[in-house]
Amino acid sequence: MAVIAVAGFHHETNTFAPSKATYQDFESGGGWPPLTRGVRAVDVVDGMNIALAGFAAAARAAGHRLVPLIWANATPSAHVTRDSYERICGMLLEEIGRAEKFDALYLDLHGAMVTEHLDDGEGDLLHRVRQAVGSRIPILASLDYHANITRAMTERADALIGYRTYPHIDMAETGRRVAALLDDVLRRGEPPATAFRKLDFLIPLSAQCTLIEPSIRLFERLAGLETESGAVLTFSGGFPAADIEECGPSVYGCGFGPDRVRRVVDLLVHEVADAEREFQAEFLSPDEGVARAIARSRPGGPPVILADTQDNPGAGANGDTVGILEALLRQRAHGAVVGLLIDPASAKQAHDLGAGAEAEFALGAISGLPGHVPCRGRFKVERVGDGNFVGSGPFYGGSKMRLGPMAALRRDGVTVVVASKKVQAADQAMFRCLGIDPARQSILALKSSVHFRADFQPIAAEVLVVAAPGPMPADPATLPWTKLRSGVRLRPNGPAFRRPGAR
Ligand SMILES: [Zn+2]
Repeated sequence: MAVIAVAGFHHETNTFAPSKATYQDFESGGGWPPLTRGVRAVDVVDGMNIALAGFAAAARAAGHRLVPLIWANATPSAHVTRDSYERICGMLLEEIGRAEKFDALYLDLHGAMVTEHLDDGEGDLLHRVRQAVGSRIPILASLDYHANITRAMTERADALIGYRTYPHIDMAETGRRVAALLDDVLRRGEPPATAFRKLDFLIPLSAQCTLIEPSIRLFERLAGLETESGAVLTFSGGFPAADIEECGPSVYGCGFGPDRVRRVVDLLVHEVADAEREFQAEFLSPDEGVARAIARSRPGGPPVILADTQDNPGAGANGDTVGILEALLRQRAHGAVVGLLIDPASAKQAHDLGAGAEAEFALGAISGLPGHVPCRGRFKVERVGDGNFVGSGPFYGGSKMRLGPMAALRRDGVTVVVASKKVQAADQAMFRCLGIDPARQSILALKSSVHFRADFQPIAAEVLVVAAPGPMPADPATLPWTKLRSGVRLRPNGPAFRRPGAR
């Protein structure tokens, strides 16, 4: 039996996005539980598809006692403010300082956090935590599949383990894998050997999906290499919208036997490098996507899905652009449903009017992105709701959603589902809560890049990835990079970045 301190601190930072993550954003928590300090920090995630929940269940089943420190998460956005990072990091260190003596520390991290004052959020966090606990306490962390793993992170943690799925249906399972590795570390009384290699090209989000090639093949290979070596391997796709030096995909391994670990990490990194061309992604313009969806869909479903990837709140966007909505209205796409459009003022207007009423609305375009204007017109309020429901799909299953006032608005046969709090459209319950059965719609336009596939691909006739105007470019090469290391190709087989001033 060991005493294990545990904490979670998550943020995925799109440094090009319109709004920052404030302390209030962590207090509200987005689609996951709000900021929680002390003993309840594990209870709040219990039963959810979250790494900390999986770790806690496995560690307790193995007879260990947990010391919960803190749980903190905010929806992806631009930089974490200096204030919120320092306050939350300070709370974590305070909790460590007043905790009873513990034998190991587990951290549930994302791995792509950038703050106003730190390019490598988790690298700094692990540094401060390491200083607080000393060199002899093992620190193990789980990471998101989109982690931009840095050298500093690998040096300050004893072991890192990343998710293997995108959509991330294995978050709790990843926590269980960390618990198994920690048992091994405690039994042997020594930290594992580690190896780390970065790839030199960025992978667009929509091409990182693990339900398609080349990821299916690469993760099969990863599993094979683990079996043959006994190492625990991580392939991270990286988060291709964080303007930091060490942005991008990487391969990391840990295990007992430094030569074996290094060898399998080298083998896997070569296989990923050889697959570069296969990571190229195809996107349609909003009008192309809508025209193709109308041609291929049938009334009553199954739906053709348009993935509004550039306005994905799961990647730092605000879910308030109207490019696809305008294209659906322009082409009179009867039976199309768009969601979730995050627009608290319009949701309130709909609630004030009540179901059945009709009025002029100015939908979306709240972020003030250059060239974006609201979608104006007369919409009928079909239905309103309080935004309180429980996620039912493989990604958000069990999550207690608190999205604030919601409404379904309709015009020319096109329905817009409006919510007040930002979350990615990755669960059918987000539509069912307003009486809309996603499987029976002809076209569904979802503000998500890939996570929607976990719950929606099984009911879809087809998925089309659309690049409507938004702050999360489908093609990372179109972003105004400044800090990335020179030589990184900005998309698979694309142009290599030259740092300003570099030769
Ligand atoms: Zn992710």
